[in-house]
Amino acid sequence: KLDSETKSLIRKALDKTIQLKELFRQQSQTLTEKNKDVLPVLNYFKRLAKPLENSLLNDLELLYDKAWKEDAKELQELNRIAQSMISQTQNPKNCTRAKKLHCVMNHMTCGFGCIIHDYGLCAFVSIGESRTLQYDMNQLATYPGINTTFEYPSETCVNRTNFGNYKIEWHPKLHKDAPSSNKEVLTMTINEPSTSHSQFSPGTVPQHLIERLQLVHSDPNAWWTGHVISYLVRPQKWVLEELKTIKREIEFEHPIVGIHVRRTDKISEASYFGLERYMDHVESWYDRYQLKHPKEKVVRRIYLATDDAQVVKEAKNSYPHYKILFTIGRTFNNSQNRKSNSAVKGVLFDALLLKDSDFVVVTFSSNIGRLVYELRQNTSSDPTYNVVSLDDGFYYWGEIGNKQVAIMDHKPPTSQLCNGTTFRSPIPEMRKWTCELELRVGDQLQSFGYMYHSYLSGGYNRRSKLHGVYPTHKVKDVLTPAAYPRHYT
Ligand code: GDP
Repeated sequence: KLDSETKSLIRKALDKTIQLKELFRQQSQTLTEKNKDVLPVLNYFKRLAKPLENSLLNDLELLYDKAWKEDAKELQELNRIAQSMISQTQNPKNCTRAKKLHCVMNHMTCGFGCIIHDYGLCAFVSIGESRTLQYDMNQLATYPGINTTFEYPSETCVNRTNFGNYKIEWHPKLHKDAPSSNKEVLTMTINEPSTSHSQFSPGTVPQHLIERLQLVHSDPNAWWTGHVISYLVRPQKWVLEELKTIKREIEFEHPIVGIHVRRTDKISEASYFGLERYMDHVESWYDRYQLKHPKEKVVRRIYLATDDAQVVKEAKNSYPHYKILFTIGRTFNNSQNRKSNSAVKGVLFDALLLKDSDFVVVTFSSNIGRLVYELRQNTSSDPTYNVVSLDDGFYYWGEIGNKQVAIMDHKPPTSQLCNGTTFRSPIPEMRKWTCELELRVGDQLQSFGYMYHSYLSGGYNRRSKLHGVYPTHKVKDVLTPAAYPRHYT
């Protein structure tokens, strides 16, 4: 049996190898863009480095799987505890006497994943405060039908119509004030930007589970967020049945790699990634799969989720040796399915199919990419290393926490140092950042998931009071515990 120190070393080695791989890729790209003459040297380098890189990653993954197998039972037990803890806060024995949190949405220009995340803000508070969450998702003009798609948070205390009329708003200050927090009903209104300012915000982790979690999971913060969101979007029975039918019809079989290519309106908001950037990871994953299963004749399948049908055409033309599955353009005309608005259907099934893929490549700048990572948390294994985001790190609008501490010094060259003047980051994805932060061991940082790029993180150094980038491996995440209710069976 591997001790916890060895396990932690395996994780660190995996993290650093992934970061190094991305650093090589990024710098090779920059070099080629600057000077085409370097291409022959780079091609030689890539031809030899890629299989070596993959073989190293494969060794580490095998080690990691070995460590994980020992922990699988414990992780499943923690999953059970989380769901049962949430369920108990939402299913009071006596509804009349129970405290409630009415969630009212004022954030109307929001897509499917964004809406789920908005309701998630209420869910965190309702669980933390042991208040039954009540909402009417039908209030949303853009997404009628979500009520008939997901299970209601409570079975014992359902109220879809008579709410939102209580004038007492939930507020952290009121919450600290005993008489107000004893009110039977509080209303929490979600306005843009989505911030909840609660001790039970996303970014927090149940205090009483942290010690156990840290031994078996690489990303406890995402784990808890994932459990809250997974509870909120428990699909109704007809959705699961329809999902089975879809899987049969499109021949969704394992192994399968899912990719989420977000285009259309997102292009103006987030960095654009060509299909080849997704396929780079897909190809490497299948190469490693083949190393692990040398005798198997592997069919290379991709589940392609996208909001742009052109991407499917492009994938089919450019990657003919892959079997490409997709549902975009499909009509879901099952009679029960009509209960759900068409906009919900496509994206919902895409998210569920990505959740069930063996490995996924997404962008965390998209709510859908983050939703998929969250939904994968309530499964039997830690999804940290089978989800790749091409851009941001994991984050949640309205989160608190995201604290880090420097574990190594970092001394940038003076020409790149953050000192009030501005230098452009050489990395396009990090263009919002202009300089490198100096780090001293023990420095406390506030990191921003949307300012992250694999080997570089972005954040604010509380000591120097400067914003900037710094090497990811020189800092460590610090979890933010919160006293969620302990009761569970
Ligand atoms: P974000 O804008 O990417 O952060 O995510 P949102 O969920 O807020 O909005 C995205 C919207 O784009 C969704 O509501 C869908 O209408 C559409 N969309 C995004 N990705 C997909 C996908 O993979 N499949 C389908 N069918 N629609 C998608």
